[in-house]
Formats: sequence, C-alpha cells, structure tokens
Amino acid sequence: MTRVLLVEDDPQLVRALVINLQARHYGVDAAPDGATALRLAAARRPDVVLLDLGLPDMDGVDIIKALRGWSRVPILVLSARQASGEKVAALDAGADDYVTKPFSIDELLARLRAAVRRTEDAPHAPGPLLVETADFSIDLIAKKAIRDGQDVRLTPTEWHLLEILVTHPGRLITQKHLLQEVWGVSQRSKTNYLRVYMAQLRRKLETDPSHPRYLITEPGMGYRFEG
Ligand code: CA
Repeated sequence: MTRVLLVEDDPQLVRALVINLQARHYGVDAAPDGATALRLAAARRPDVVLLDLGLPDMDGVDIIKALRGWSRVPILVLSARQASGEKVAALDAGADDYVTKPFSIDELLARLRAAVRRTEDAPHAPGPLLVETADFSIDLIAKKAIRDGQDVRLTPTEWHLLEILVTHPGRLITQKHLLQEVWGVSQRSKTNYLRVYMAQLRRKLETDPSHPRYLITEPGMGYRFEG
C-alpha cells in the first residue's frame, strides 16, 4: 500500500482528500500543521508527501528543507494559484512538483502516481538511454537528437538543456535549476537565456514551435518535458 502523508490545515479539504485517497487504496496520515508533519514523516516513513504551503505554525518551504535534510520522499506541493513565487521557492527547496488549488482530484491523483513512480523507477534503472517521441528521438549515449531520420544539429548548451529536461519526463524543472546546471548562474535576470535557448530547441525539434507539444513552458516557474 502506498502511504501518503497529507499536510493540510483545511479540515474540509483534508476530509475530501482522505475519502478519495482511501477509496483508491492509499494509506493516509493527516497532519494539520508543520510540527505534526515532521513528526509523522519520521515515524511513519510515507511514500509520498502532499504538502500545503500555508500552514498555521511553519512556512511550507521550511518543512521541505527539514524533510530534505534526511529524506528523498517525493513531495507534491498544494499551492494557491497566485503564489508562483512561493511555488518556485518550494521547488528550489526540493519539492518534486506542485498542484494549484483548486485542483481536480483526477489531476492530483495523476501527479501523485507520477511522483511515486519516479522514485520507484529510480533505484533500479540507470535512466533511459533513448527517449522517443512521435516526432523525434534523443539518444542519450551518442548525445544525438534525430528527427525524420536526420541528425539535428544542437550546440553543447542546447544539448545540456535538452538532456536535463528529457531525463526528467513530466517533471517541472525550475528556471533557477536550469540556469545553475547549464550556465552556472542562478540570477533570475538571466531567464532570457533560457527563453532564447528553449525557442531554439523548439524550432529544431517541435513540429509547431509556437505551440510546443514536448518542451512546455510553465510561466514564471520553469520548463517541463512531456514525452
Ligand atoms: Ca492552508
């Protein structure tokens, strides 16, 4: 049974989520505040944490940092729509993904399954060697992109960016993370580098670069590869 630690102070939302999760055979522990969350995380060793960022006693980002001190448990953040700065801070602190309130239960369950699956896959597989989409494929060993049977010429910077995204399918990668990995800088002002390079990658790989299907922008947050 997959065990979920639900950290949320809204009792109505807790009730609805507990009913829905238990109906799908998840084991659920609920914590109404940060202190309880940290205690339960240590005592119950959940498989995934659903974390509301707005809690009465602690900042959600501090809970993520505390958990990341000793645990790699996937953390899915529940956050209000307006708070994109908050979501970025949560992702940079080590959260795996976020769902914006109000969310549909189906969306939440899909993200939950994806987060759990990523950790289940991780210890066994060394990662994919070939990433294939309907329009192009990426050979991570040969470091090549192939589209319509032809090699796509990529600069080392384009390749580095693409490699990070395609090796984390479905996962939101923050601007800060990409800037740090590819350019070694974390200044948010350098996000125009990212826009330029992502536009180039889309021109080279996407069938309709202005309506990308694979290299998705999450405005103000980062990028996601949908395989
Ligand atoms: Ca709250």
